[in-house]
Amino acid sequence: MGDVSSCPRVLFVDDDESVRRAFTRSMSARGYEVVLASSAEEALRTADHQGPFPVVVTDLNLPGLDGVELIQRMRHHHPRTAFVVMTGVVDVDLSRHQHAGAPIASIVPKPFDAEHVHQVIKRAVRIATSPVVTRTAEAGVAPSGGALILEDNPGDALLVQTQLEKAGWTPQDITHVRRLDDALAAVHDQPFEIVLSDLSLPDARGLDAVARLHAAVPRVPIIVLSGHDDDQVALEALQLGAQDYLVKSLLNATTLCRSVRHAIERKRVERRLAHLAHHDQLTGLANRTSFRERVTHALARARRRQEPFAVLLLDLDKFKAVNDNMGHEAGDILLQTVSGRLCQAVRDTDTVARLGGDEFAVLLDAPTGKLDAVAIAERILDGLREPAQLKDERFVITSSVGVAVYPEGGEDLDALVAAADAAMYEAKRSGRNTIRVYSREGTATTQLRQTLEHDLYRALAEDEFALRYQPQFDLRTGGIRGVEALLRWKRPGRLATPQDFLTVLEETGLIHEVGRWVLSTACQTLAQCPSQELRLAVNLTTSQFEDDDFVDTVAATLAHHRIAPHRLDLEITESILMRDTKRTNAALQRLKQLGVRLVIDDFGTGHSSLAYLTRFDVDALKVDRSFVHKLTQTMDSDRKVAAAIIALAHNLGLEVIAEGIETQEQLDLLRLDGCDLGQGYLLGRPDQAATWLDAPQKALPAPAAAPTPDAPRPLHHVTNR
Ligand code: C2E
Ligand code: MG
Ligand code: MG
Repeated sequence: MGDVSSCPRVLFVDDDESVRRAFTRSMSARGYEVVLASSAEEALRTADHQGPFPVVVTDLNLPGLDGVELIQRMRHHHPRTAFVVMTGVVDVDLSRHQHAGAPIASIVPKPFDAEHVHQVIKRAVRIATSPVVTRTAEAGVAPSGGALILEDNPGDALLVQTQLEKAGWTPQDITHVRRLDDALAAVHDQPFEIVLSDLSLPDARGLDAVARLHAAVPRVPIIVLSGHDDDQVALEALQLGAQDYLVKSLLNATTLCRSVRHAIERKRVERRLAHLAHHDQLTGLANRTSFRERVTHALARARRRQEPFAVLLLDLDKFKAVNDNMGHEAGDILLQTVSGRLCQAVRDTDTVARLGGDEFAVLLDAPTGKLDAVAIAERILDGLREPAQLKDERFVITSSVGVAVYPEGGEDLDALVAAADAAMYEAKRSGRNTIRVYSREGTATTQLRQTLEHDLYRALAEDEFALRYQPQFDLRTGGIRGVEALLRWKRPGRLATPQDFLTVLEETGLIHEVGRWVLSTACQTLAQCPSQELRLAVNLTTSQFEDDDFVDTVAATLAHHRIAPHRLDLEITESILMRDTKRTNAALQRLKQLGVRLVIDDFGTGHSSLAYLTRFDVDALKVDRSFVHKLTQTMDSDRKVAAAIIALAHNLGLEVIAEGIETQEQLDLLRLDGCDLGQGYLLGRPDQAATWLDAPQKALPAPAAAPTPDAPRPLHHVTNR
């Protein structure tokens, strides 16, 4: 430790006592006098009473003021102090700059390597304590950006320029202006690495120039060049944001060069520290602090401009399981993957933040209404769904997203975040992997609807709807009896099923137009089918009965395609019958008169009122697939329901169709129970019309060879009507 001046003092700030002890032990052994503080506040007091210290080594995360704030405050009072940050995060960026000269401040990783820390402190002490004049200028300190000299006295400007050139700057690196206005224009036009400013200028007095330059380019270091050696002014200059205060008469190449180098390095460290304080270390995303700051800014602007903006909160579904089962390393990779995908899904102006754990937030900057917010949230979920590689496994990530839009979601920061949080909670509750938007009614209702609505209008215009046809088999003869038309939406990026969008079609009234399209498209398909026997089933929703022209439309469509009315099954739900309004009753009656058949879909899931079935002269029942699935369950009572429905329907003279047949066993039992028609994935999936209509000879799978002794036996055997 020969080159360390006698017993240099180091102030060490860390709230962890064991770290303080370890530091004291290893640094005392290397010849330092270590003074300890357990908080930034204590460090500031200690520096005032016992300082200045040539070197302060500080932890970043401290209770109360943090390490960054400590440095910022202490620097003003002790500008010669060198700071070393000791943190759990290794900073690659900064260590790259270390070769450019001894850093005045540095970042060392924690847990620390005593020898490394010693080397870093040694260099810092040397810089902080070396007498200004004995340092020699080093070539190569001129950084990539240029230097701006703001000086109205041509002689002084030349002096500074000459010194800079001696220190290794080329004339091209140096820009000289005489007025503050010109300097402000220059810093806006091009990036400077350093600004050297005189204090007496034709258009600025005293420290005005420093304040205004600092406000214009807070990231560029400023060195004040003054004609007077005045401690008070020097201190004020530093407080206003200058990095150093130099007296022109004492200026030489070495002093200037060293000051420039240190100013640049300090600024870099300041930026780096600010980055650390505002970013999540694992993902590099904004952290909670900076997210809140940005939302605060967004709020101010949104109020001013009266524009909406949105806050999204996301929580990964089942992240804990990944961490627990695959280890934290895999968890970290997952979080980084998510972070990358979130950034890809949003716009450049938006902010993605990690709030902690597996909780992320997105600020969708103004102007973003609900519609856009939900569209982006959908894009985010889509992006996340792409399988991710974690160790040897491919993994599908899903997330629950809560959206709050200003002003409806809340008019201040906390209200808005709480609203997004409530919506996210709601999304989690309703089965995860979904989006919920906070609405003023106090509940987070799905506003996925709103995008859907928007997209559905477009879908109609752009011909994005299509029909698939699922075969219905005659369970006695085994031949195809007909097909059911099922609506599909070729939604860009995915194929959406009607469950996803039917409600919206109904609520917007779009169902009328889409319904007419379905009917005419399906009829056209049937008309082109070679067989005149095959039948067509078309689904109707309740609201379609509100259309006064509905029955006329059906009649006209059938006539137009020359289809006999008895070949058309209209599938309606029990709820239509239950409405029992004049209008629906009249419509049902007229449909019957027309000769089409009425089929009750999903029978058993509603009121299952037999009285209504007879009153409206219904032709057939479709036993809901939930009963079909219960057929093969072990509980006798479950198995009985389907059989009972079949028996009752037959007693009322109705035909029975079973839907959702997925296994041979279900098929066999339905056949034994006397069900007339069957439909389901086992028999045929919804497909292009040609698959079923052009080959009506396609046959039903034969019954399973011989029922095994313990296979469930049919409970009823009803003779066919
Ligand atoms: P639904 O009329 O009960 O149609 C049967 C649904 O069950 C279809 O779903 C079909 O794809 C599905 N499915 C068929 N076989 C099986 C099976 O073996 N297992 C299982 N798990 N599912 C099976 P999809 O196409 O999603 O339609 C859902 C509902 O949307 C339909 O239920 C119907 O009520 C309605 N819908 C479909 N197309 C239209 C339409 O053009 N207009 C109207 N108003 N409603 C429609
Ligand atoms: Mg149906
Ligand atoms: Mg059904």
